[in-house]
Amino acid sequence: MRDNSVLRKLLGLCVSTVVVVGRELVEAGDGGRSKLVVWVRRRARVRGRCGRCGAVAPWFDNGGGERRWRHIDMGMATCELVAEAPRVTCPEHGATVAEVSFARHDSAFSRAFEDLVVFDAIVSNKLAAAKRHGISWRAVDHMCIRVATEALGRIDLLEGLVAIAIDEVKYKKGHKYLTVVCDHLTGRVIWAARGRNKETVRTFFDALGEERAAQLQFVTCDGAEWIRSVITERAPEAIVCLDTFHLIGWATAALDEVRREEWNKLRRTGGAHSAKEFKGLRWMLLRNWENLSSKQKGTIRDLERANRRAFRAWQLKEELRDVMSMPLAAARRGLDSWLAYASRSRLAPFVKLARTIRHYRDSIEATLEWKLTNGIAESNNAAIGRIRSAARGFHDPESFITMIMLNRAGIAPQLPWAAAS
Ligand SMILES: [Zn+2]
Repeated sequence: MRDNSVLRKLLGLCVSTVVVVGRELVEAGDGGRSKLVVWVRRRARVRGRCGRCGAVAPWFDNGGGERRWRHIDMGMATCELVAEAPRVTCPEHGATVAEVSFARHDSAFSRAFEDLVVFDAIVSNKLAAAKRHGISWRAVDHMCIRVATEALGRIDLLEGLVAIAIDEVKYKKGHKYLTVVCDHLTGRVIWAARGRNKETVRTFFDALGEERAAQLQFVTCDGAEWIRSVITERAPEAIVCLDTFHLIGWATAALDEVRREEWNKLRRTGGAHSAKEFKGLRWMLLRNWENLSSKQKGTIRDLERANRRAFRAWQLKEELRDVMSMPLAAARRGLDSWLAYASRSRLAPFVKLARTIRHYRDSIEATLEWKLTNGIAESNNAAIGRIRSAARGFHDPESFITMIMLNRAGIAPQLPWAAAS
């Protein structure tokens, strides 16, 4: 193999489109990294294409002469590709820089380099990826947008939807929310936008279109009326299910409210020691029974004697979880007796919850009947939470949406060598 062919292979450049014509190792004088500069050109038989749309287009002029792209590092050295960047006349875009096979349009980095950086940004975060590759945070941010935009242009995530989940996600303190839509069958996030109101949900249905909205059979969501009313308006045929994830969340919140009331009561009556002990119970009470150690289970059993109200609240939360995992007929009976018990519990938060559950009873039974369980919403919510904390919050909602899509919509780039020829 000739040297230039070896180099071309090492650089992962495609043999059918690119020829390596020269190279030079530029030593850094100040103790910095050396740079391998590689001159390449398009193969003569490959026709010129528009950099923006890829349409075959005739030569226009030599453009701005040589251009440079940062490529994947070669050992200890960084690497730069250099090529002529002529312009072509696209019927649609006019005089445009011709497409190069190894880089996205309007980028100072090669496609492989960008894919690698975005891959790193997804598994860690943008700042870590920026440090790792010695580029700015902003450059990483732009790469994420370019990669996501390209991928989303290739596939239509809104095609063939039958069952979806609509949910809200916080992106910043002070009631800043996104609305996120997932596909129940694939588990993927398929749409996200800033805001949580009827208008946001309508924007989703606008993108979906009337015909595809009519194909929707199930929509799961929480009790939010702003979601429900738009579903009634735009997808009247769809069965609205109440997400069990949210239902259990409400019961957990009611339990926490009871616990807090009891703790305050203890504090007021001077039981400082028991109040402190009681406060420590918080996380134990909120966890699922099967995730507790036997010592923790003992503590909860002791609670039955120590504080009957808190124990009853804990029982109600656990029983509701049980009911939601039963087969339909048993769950219906279970829900009846749960509602009766909760209404008579004399625990205000649970009396209120029983009223809410009666209000959404049809949606809850639809969930039980069609087994559209909490898995999707729960795992996506957890993943979105991880994305947010990895980035230590997002100021720009669009940037957050881009990371959610790259992470959860199945459009993350492969590592460059996975596809190298
Ligand atoms: Zn074009």
